[in-house]
Amino acid sequence: MSGAEPTPSDDRLETTDRTTLRRIPERGHFDRDTINAIIDEALVCHVGIVDDDGRPVVIPTFHARDGDDLLLHGSAASRLLRSARNAEVCVTITLLDSLVLARTAFHHSANYRSVVIFGSPKQITDDDDAAAALDILVEALVPGRATEVRPNTRNEIRATAVLRLPISEASAKIRNGPPVDDEEDMDAPVWAGLVPIQTTFGEPITADDLRVDLPPSPSAANYQRPAPAG
Ligand SMILES: Cc1cc2nc3c(=O)[nH]c(=O)nc-3n(C[C@H](O)[C@H](O)[C@H](O)COP(=O)(O)OP(=O)(O)OC[C@H]3O[C@@H](n4cnc5c(N)ncnc54)[C@H](O)[C@@H]3O)c2cc1C
Repeated sequence: MSGAEPTPSDDRLETTDRTTLRRIPERGHFDRDTINAIIDEALVCHVGIVDDDGRPVVIPTFHARDGDDLLLHGSAASRLLRSARNAEVCVTITLLDSLVLARTAFHHSANYRSVVIFGSPKQITDDDDAAAALDILVEALVPGRATEVRPNTRNEIRATAVLRLPISEASAKIRNGPPVDDEEDMDAPVWAGLVPIQTTFGEPITADDLRVDLPPSPSAANYQRPAPAG
């Protein structure tokens, strides 16, 4: 949906004091379809936590959406996972669609779609539920991959912390449009417009140490993002 304005759905999140946009509020979106589409297209999120010493830290990581929840995972030993569990976190997700070059440096901008989620993730403690959540994470990143590889072992599942964060206090913000300059600069002899940004996925590169003679599996050979519908 690069660059297109979303069609709002009826399923809207309640705004709270911290999700109310104060800066250019008309760019805010609170319907689940818009928020979910951004979450699903993005490969990476950034999780903001306050560490054990009370200092903020923001860590990039993978995510997946399971219905109305965001899933995060990592080594059970990682500070991110230990600190985020049961604590207040802020997760941001960003898709950059174009650079916006205005006639003045001041009005340069970007077209983007981003989401901010606040909440307190809970760890999935049941092994079967964690295994299912890990499959959802793999499928969100590489659709079809979970069925190409063997299931996780119990030890692998127990070495991994999987957190579930309700997407209930969240906002999306979207800029989509041309540069906006002040009237007194409109005749300036300067080009203005958009530099579109597109993410592309290349031909799969077979691992040097692959011990079987196989072509790239379908999940790699046919990789697309956003994933084709259905
Ligand atoms: C790629 C990119 C580049 C940007 N570059 C700049 C820049 O250089 N300078 C700049 O000032 N701003 C930039 N922005 C916009 C920036 O994200 C903020 O929206 C803006 O700075 C206002 O922040 P605030 O905390 O004052 O907003 P407020 O309106 O006070 O924020 C209140 C609440 O609104 C929501 N909100 C605010 N921003 C976003 C967002 N981006 N996505 C989802 N929800 C949001 C959150 O829930 C937040 O808690 C950029 C955004 C993106 C995605």
